[in-house]
Amino acid sequence: MNNPIDSITPVSLAYASLIFVGFVSVMFLGTIFLPGKQYTGCLQLDGTRKSYKLNGLLLFMATTLTVVTSTLIFNITLAPLTNYFWSLFVVANLFAFVCTGILYVKGQKKQSVNNQPQKLGKIISDLWLGMELNPTWLGVDLKMFAYQPSLIGLGLLNAAFAYLQYEKYGEITPQMWMFQVFWWLYLATHYYYEEFMLSTWDIIAEKFGFMLIWGDLVLVPFFYSIIGWYLVDAIEPITVSAIIAIALLYLIGLTIFRGANAQKHQFKKNSQATIWGQPAQTLEGKLLLSGWWGIGRKLNYTGEICVYFALALTSGFESIIPYILPLWLCGLLCHRAWRDEQRCQTKYGNLWDVYCTKVRFRMLPFVY
Ligand code: NDP
Repeated sequence: MNNPIDSITPVSLAYASLIFVGFVSVMFLGTIFLPGKQYTGCLQLDGTRKSYKLNGLLLFMATTLTVVTSTLIFNITLAPLTNYFWSLFVVANLFAFVCTGILYVKGQKKQSVNNQPQKLGKIISDLWLGMELNPTWLGVDLKMFAYQPSLIGLGLLNAAFAYLQYEKYGEITPQMWMFQVFWWLYLATHYYYEEFMLSTWDIIAEKFGFMLIWGDLVLVPFFYSIIGWYLVDAIEPITVSAIIAIALLYLIGLTIFRGANAQKHQFKKNSQATIWGQPAQTLEGKLLLSGWWGIGRKLNYTGEICVYFALALTSGFESIIPYILPLWLCGLLCHRAWRDEQRCQTKYGNLWDVYCTKVRFRMLPFVY
C-alpha cells in the first residue's frame, strides 16, 4: 500500500468536517425531499408497526448520476477523498460519539419518570445499545436513514480509489473496474430491495445506540472500502480466465444472497407465494422449504461471503489485508447464523427441529 495517506492536522480535520457534515446533510435533505413509496414495517416487539417512506434507490441513483456528470462535464474528481481518508475517519468517529450522546439525552428525557441517579453499568449499556427503538428527527426514522450515509458513503469512497488510480497511472485497471462494478451492483441491488431491510432484526428489534451508529458511520464506509487501497497500485495485468473466475464467483454469490433474501421476503408477505415457478412448500405455513431455503438454512449468508471473497480476489494475492474483510464477515455471519438458529429453535420449537432434519446443512451443502 504505497499511497500517500494524509497526516491529520487541524486544517485537514476542518476540511474533513465540512465534507462529512455536508455529505450527511445532503443525504438527509434528499431523504426528506425526494419522493418515495410508503411501506409498513414488521410487527415490532411492542406490538406496533411503523410506516416508512423508502427512497434510497432514488438517492443512490441521483448520487451516481451527479458524480458521473460532474466528472464528464466539470472534470471533478473524488480522489481528494483518499487524501482526507484518516481525517474523515476521525470526524466520522466524533460524529458517531456526538450522535450517541444526543440520542442518549433525548431518550433519557422521554423515559425519565424519576430523577434517581443511574448506575454506571446501565448508562454504558444505554449508550452502547441505545435508548429508543425508533428515534425520529423531522419525520425521518434515523435508524433507517443511517444506511444512506453508510452505504452511499462507502460507494463514494470506493469510487475515490478509481479516481486516484487514474490520476496516478492514467488508466483504470480491469481489477479496479471489477471492484467498482461489483460494489456498485451490490449497492444498487441493496437499494432495489430496500424494503427487505424492514424485516431485518436490526430494524425490528435493535435500539439505535453507539453500536449501530458506529457500525453505520464508521465501520462500513472505512473498513469495507479497504480493498480499494490495495487496488490503486495493482497495475500488473490480470488474465482473462482470472477475470471470468472472479466474476463468476461474484455473480453466483450475489444471486444466492439477494435471491434467498427475496424468497424469504415474498414468503413472509404471502405464504402461498410462487418460488422458482412452483407454489412455496412450507412447514405449517411458517417456515419456507422451497428455493434456496430448501437447500441450506443460511445460504443467504454464504452468498454474501462469496461476494466479499470475489471483491478481495480482485486485489490478487500480494497482501493478506484485503482478505481481512471476507474473513471477518465469515466469522460474523457464522456466529450470527448460530445465534439466529438458537433464536429460531426457541421460537419455533419442534417445527425448527423438523426443518433441520429436512434441510440438514446450514451454510455449505454436504459440508456444514
Ligand atoms: P436472515 O435474513 O437469514 O433472517 C433470519 C430470520 O429469518 C430468522 O430469525 C427467522 O425469523 C427467519 N427464517 C429463518 N429460516 C427461515 C425459513 N426457512 N423460512 C422462513 N423464515 C425463516 O438473517 P439476518 O436478518 O441476520 O440477515 C439479513 C441479510 O443481511 C443476510 O443476507 C446477511 O447476509 C446480511 N447481513 C450482512 C452483514 C454485513 O455486514 N454485510 C451483517 C449482517 C447481515 P422469523 O422469526 O421472522 O421467522
